[in-house]
Amino acid sequence: MGRVYNFSAGPAVLPEEVLRDAAAEMLDYNGSGMSVMEMSHRSKVYENIIEEAEKDIRDLLNIPDNYKVLFLQGGGHTQFAMVPMNLMKNRKADYIITGQWAKKAFQEAKMYGDVVAVASSEDETYSYIPDCSDLPIREDADYVYICENNTIYGTKFKTLPNTKGKDLVADVSSCFLSEPMDISKYGIVWGGVQKNIGPAGVVIAIVRDDLITDDVLEGTPSMLRYKVHADNKSLYNTPPAYNIYICGKVFKWIKSLGGLSAMKVRNEEKAKILYDFLDSSKLFKGTVRKEDRSLMNVPFITGDKEMDAKFIKEAEANGFVNLKGHRSVGGMRASIYNAMPKEGVEKLVEFMKKFEKENA
Ligand code: PLP
Repeated sequence: MGRVYNFSAGPAVLPEEVLRDAAAEMLDYNGSGMSVMEMSHRSKVYENIIEEAEKDIRDLLNIPDNYKVLFLQGGGHTQFAMVPMNLMKNRKADYIITGQWAKKAFQEAKMYGDVVAVASSEDETYSYIPDCSDLPIREDADYVYICENNTIYGTKFKTLPNTKGKDLVADVSSCFLSEPMDISKYGIVWGGVQKNIGPAGVVIAIVRDDLITDDVLEGTPSMLRYKVHADNKSLYNTPPAYNIYICGKVFKWIKSLGGLSAMKVRNEEKAKILYDFLDSSKLFKGTVRKEDRSLMNVPFITGDKEMDAKFIKEAEANGFVNLKGHRSVGGMRASIYNAMPKEGVEKLVEFMKKFEKENA
C-alpha cells in the first residue's frame, strides 16, 4: 500500500520530503557515522542540531529577543500544570473555556489556586468562540489562559481576548506554525509538536524572560520549572533528541516554502476548498459558527450516525484515513495541517461529492 491521505488530528501527517530526508540520514548523520537517535545529546554535532532548530523557529515566528524557546517533554498535559506552577504568584488565574483542552487545563490549574472561567462556549458544545472584548478579568489574576485552536471542535480565536493588561498564555498545539503570529502579545505560547511540527514527545514553549523565575509554587519539581530548562538551553536532562531533530527539519521545510505567510496562504486555500463544499452540500454540513472556523481542524456531520459511519468506512477503503470525529463528539473531522497537500483536500472533496450522489 502506498501513502494514504491521513487526516488524523495528531500524531499527524508530516511532510514527505522531511521523512525521506531523515531516512537518508538514518545510518550516518552528516558524516558522524551514526543516527541522530544514537548520538549523545552532549555532543557538538547534536548541540548544532538543537541550536539550529531554535534559530529556525525564531526566524519563522520572528520571536523577540526577550523570549526563550524551550524544548520540553510531558506533552500538553504537563503544560496544564507547569503554567500555574510557574506563574501563580497570587494563586489566581482566569481561563476561557472553548473546548475540552481548555477545560482540562482549567481543571488542572484548580489544583494550585483560585481559578475562574471568565468565558465559555460549553453551552453550545463549543461550536463558537465567545466574545472576549470585555471579560470580567480579575485585577490580581496572574494570567489569562486560552486554547487558541480547538482541535476537537474546529474553532479558532481570530482575535485575541482583551486580557486587560494581564499576561496571555496560549496553547497553540493545533495551529502552531500554520500562520504568522505576534509573539509579543503573549506571556507564554506553548504547543505540542505532534500536529503541525513533528513526532509526539516534544512541547515547544516560548516564554517571556520576566516569567522565567525561581519564584514558583513551593514543591515545583526541577523538571517543571521553566527556569531550569532555560538555564540549561533545553538540555537539563536527556531531551527527546531525535524528535527535536525532526522538528528542525520541518522548520527548514516551512522556510523553503516561504515561511509562515506562505503557509497561511496555502492553509487558507485548502480550508476554503473543504468549507465551500460543506456550505454547498446537501448531505454534509460543518458544525461550527462560520466566523470562528479553524483552518486546521474541520468537523462535519451528515446528521445521521449510520450515514457517518458508512462514509468513514468507505473513505478509509479509498485511502482517506482517520476521518472519524473525536470520540466525545462523533461525526467526522478532517485535520488538514501544514503537511496535508492541497491535492489531498481536493481528492477528499471529490470523494465526498461522489458519496453524496450515491447516497442522495
Ligand atoms: N492541547 C490541544 C489543543 C490538543 O489538541 C491536545 C491533544 O490533542 C492537547 C492539548 C493534549 O496534548 P497531549 O496529548 O500532548 O498531552
